[in-house]
Amino acid sequence: MHFELSEEQKMIRQAARDFAQTELKPGVIERDEHQKFPAEQIKKLGELGFLGMMVSPQYGGSGMDAISYVLVMEELSKIDASASVVVSVNNSLVCYGLEKYGSEEQKQKYLIPLAKGEKIGAFCLSEPEAGSDATSQRTTAIDMGDHYLLNGTKNWITNGSSASTYLVMAQTDASKRSHGINVLIVEKGMEGFTIGAKENKMGIRGSDTHSLMFNDVKVPKENRIGEDGFGFKFAMSTLEGGRIGIAAQALGIASGALELAVQYAKERTAFGKTIANLQAIQFKLADMATDIEAARLLCLRAAWLKDNGKPYGQASAMAKLFASETAMKTTIEAVQIHGGYGFVKEYHVERLMRDAKITQIYEGTSEIQKIVISREVLK
Ligand SMILES: Cc1cc2nc3c(=O)[nH]c(=O)nc-3n(C[C@H](O)[C@H](O)[C@H](O)COP(=O)(O)OP(=O)(O)OC[C@H]3O[C@@H](n4cnc5c(N)ncnc54)[C@H](O)[C@@H]3O)c2cc1C
Repeated sequence: MHFELSEEQKMIRQAARDFAQTELKPGVIERDEHQKFPAEQIKKLGELGFLGMMVSPQYGGSGMDAISYVLVMEELSKIDASASVVVSVNNSLVCYGLEKYGSEEQKQKYLIPLAKGEKIGAFCLSEPEAGSDATSQRTTAIDMGDHYLLNGTKNWITNGSSASTYLVMAQTDASKRSHGINVLIVEKGMEGFTIGAKENKMGIRGSDTHSLMFNDVKVPKENRIGEDGFGFKFAMSTLEGGRIGIAAQALGIASGALELAVQYAKERTAFGKTIANLQAIQFKLADMATDIEAARLLCLRAAWLKDNGKPYGQASAMAKLFASETAMKTTIEAVQIHGGYGFVKEYHVERLMRDAKITQIYEGTSEIQKIVISREVLK
């Protein structure tokens, strides 16, 4: 066991850190305020190979490990979680699912442009009445022989309007419950597929979250991933890896808030000395740093298990649970350390606090992570 990153991993982390400072930081406040999708920045992240990080070079990816993915997600999320969620969804939910379970034709047609960042993907599981209880899919994919007829509504879809390729879960045989669900590759522009209005959100406001409507969309049979009825297993398997990405996003939000709080505490004076000299502030910083380090170790451990072909479902749930709770606590404290300045946009911490909240909700709420963890504990 060793705790050192390789030289290559350190270089990748540095590249992400530089990118976040030079490309994401300028304009991040305006993008948040106006809910502007970071299109140019995402294009550049694609050129750097950060949208298909773990995909084999054979399919246009960078062939990096999951540890590097955690490092990149942390660095990008310190500055802009609206951009990093695009990286997370494209890498862990879309590219991973296509590479692991897709057919060779699907990889050639869909994975390569996604891994190169030429196109963006979306993962469509949630519905107005199926969130945590994802088995209650109401979207239907009726088997019509050579195609499926897709009908229904998906809710809260990240990259809803910016994506070109959508992985859509839908019920083909309701009598089989979760074993009757399929996952279909749907292309933007297919007849009967429409995109709803953009959600006006508390946080990650630059990310484009939309509902999607499917009205008699004909999806060719060859666009089904895996065997008939594989859709729910597909969703659960990809979400295990997705949680590593969101855990690392939460870690980045927390560590970004700590960096800002430390810097501010060293500059701000009160009662004739900097507030960093006050033990009340020092103890807050100590608690934040300790929680963040624990969250980082959980993220890296989950990634290490994945890289080494070991089961990582419980580890990724623990990492997401702990890192997202840490992000929320830490950002609240960072605002407190900034006093009144923490309450205004130009100091960045209020945005981090708003962004932190979503990490406790998407890709499985904190309560759902506890269900996943306790299931393993009780085995
Ligand atoms: C900004 C944003 C982006 C998103 N992006 C995507 C995306 O790209 N693709 C996608 O498919 N989905 C996406 N989602 C949906 C997200 O995954 C769901 O919102 C989440 O899974 C919770 O589902 P829900 O909102 O229906 O809440 P519910 O499931 O209705 O939960 C409500 C509350 O009840 C609790 N609860 C529910 N069941 C249990 C239980 N058994 N035990 C204990 N507590 C429970 C929950 O923890 C929560 O506190 C996104 C959501 C948001 C807000």
